[in-house]
Amino acid sequence: MDAKPAIPALPLHKGEVPLYMETGKAQPRSVSGTFRSLKWWAMVITLAWWHLGPFLRWSRGPGAPDQAILIDMPGRRAYFLFIEIWPQEIYYLTGILLISAILLFLMSAVAGRVWCGFICWQTVYTDLFVAIERLVIGDRSARIAFERQPMSGAKLARKAVINLAWLMISAACGIGFTLWFGDAFTQIKEIFTGEAGAATYAFIAILGGFCFLLAGYARERVCVYLCPYSRFQSAMFDEHSLIVTYEAWRGDPGGPARKGQSFEGRGHCVDCRSCVQACPTGIDIRKGNQLACIGCALCVDACNQVMDRYGLPRGLISYDSSFNIDSRGQGLSTRFRVIRPRTLIYGGIMALVASIMLFRLTTRPDVDVNVLHERAPLFVQMSDGSIRNGYVYKVLNMKAEDRSFKVKLVGVEGATIDVIGGETGAGEVEMQVARDSVGSFRVYVTVPAAKVTAKSMPVAFVLTGSSRDVRTETLFAGPDK
Ligand code: SF4
Ligand code: SF4
Repeated sequence: MDAKPAIPALPLHKGEVPLYMETGKAQPRSVSGTFRSLKWWAMVITLAWWHLGPFLRWSRGPGAPDQAILIDMPGRRAYFLFIEIWPQEIYYLTGILLISAILLFLMSAVAGRVWCGFICWQTVYTDLFVAIERLVIGDRSARIAFERQPMSGAKLARKAVINLAWLMISAACGIGFTLWFGDAFTQIKEIFTGEAGAATYAFIAILGGFCFLLAGYARERVCVYLCPYSRFQSAMFDEHSLIVTYEAWRGDPGGPARKGQSFEGRGHCVDCRSCVQACPTGIDIRKGNQLACIGCALCVDACNQVMDRYGLPRGLISYDSSFNIDSRGQGLSTRFRVIRPRTLIYGGIMALVASIMLFRLTTRPDVDVNVLHERAPLFVQMSDGSIRNGYVYKVLNMKAEDRSFKVKLVGVEGATIDVIGGETGAGEVEMQVARDSVGSFRVYVTVPAAKVTAKSMPVAFVLTGSSRDVRTETLFAGPDK
């Protein structure tokens, strides 16, 4: 007997079912097969990435962090391999997020809910937590019986072991999160020696707490009721997107059957409910596609095992496109079409955004310059009649080395340029800026009276000594003419 009634299909009309329906805890039965193996591999790869990714190194030269991917909050910088993103370049993060979102759309258009069923954090941790329950209590029927047992010392002890294991995994999940925000080797040492800051421990507690509650107790309710992605991703599907579907044309009319009996004149479904019992969200895929189906394909493995036992062809529940399922039903040939208008559009958008980012990255300067004209006073007339304007000249040195730049003024003849506290040069001055910092310089530009031909003359500062010259337009103010 199933412990959990099926979660109802997505209501087609408002008011058909309540917004939330408590259906009890799903107790999925373990299965073996291709998709189960893929899920184990997906779990190993995603968890390894989450926990070991921050330990990957990338040499950026002396003095620079060597963590391959690092979001350095105190240093207000993000590092992705060879890319270094400054706060004023937040649009790169926007680009990365946009590409990630479109990639998700592309994955959905090609392979259905492959993200939900195999890669999503909720799926991975829930799968791991269920595996621990299975290890401590047993498979589905043992767990159902265990839940029904009255509370006893032995039951309490086993629950404590499970919750303790969940807590440890959740803490590891929280720790894994913090390692992306500081040097992983230093962070891990500080966390375990109690030297980390309160914010680090708070993040571990918050993220670990969510992991514990969502994967341990909320489980499939997150996918059915909380996750917004499940609500709209079917909009990315078309007839060639892969989905998990019961092939009703072949399975119905089904019913119980004995091994070795003839299936002549009846459907191949033996109504064993193995597919329902294997389902982590507790639904019956034979009732059609449902919002609660996360596309994990465990029901495919479960049904294939049954088909093998009865000597029937596999694939009564298949992970295939609706086009192929219909074609098979009509005895036509099947095909898997990846190149289609929507996949081309998604791929095109990704390529466009990636190209723009790449172009910006390869052509971006390694300095940023900002010039502010002093307004009070706008200009000063010197004793020899020449006119002097003051500016605040800021240079952001985006390299991990101290650098020296030359700055000159163009646009007006005979101008001299002085840096307060620094050198005076007829044509240009030198400015030293420390690595990864902003150098702020007070600059005076003096122009002979005869050369000041207007109340406001366009001039430009030109900085040399970086990957390319940086020209910054501004104005030179003088008296009314
Ligand atoms: S596992 Fe296959 S045979 Fe058994 S109920 Fe599900 S669809 Fe029918
Ligand atoms: S119906 Fe099948 S594919 Fe969908 S969630 Fe359940 S087991 Fe996974």
